Amino acid sequence: MGIIVCQTCEATVEHFEDEKVTTLYTKQCPHCKDVVIQEM
Ligand SMILES: [Zn+2]
Repeated sequence: MGIIVCQTCEATVEHFEDEKVTTLYTKQCPHCKDVVIQEM
């Protein structure tokens, strides 16, 4: 199983099927994106 993790808050954003354990980092999850937009 693979997971996609938010680079900013390290929350698990999404799961996907994979033969081995894989961790991918995304720049921002939707939550962090919202925070950035509010600050700008
Ligand atoms: Zn996040």
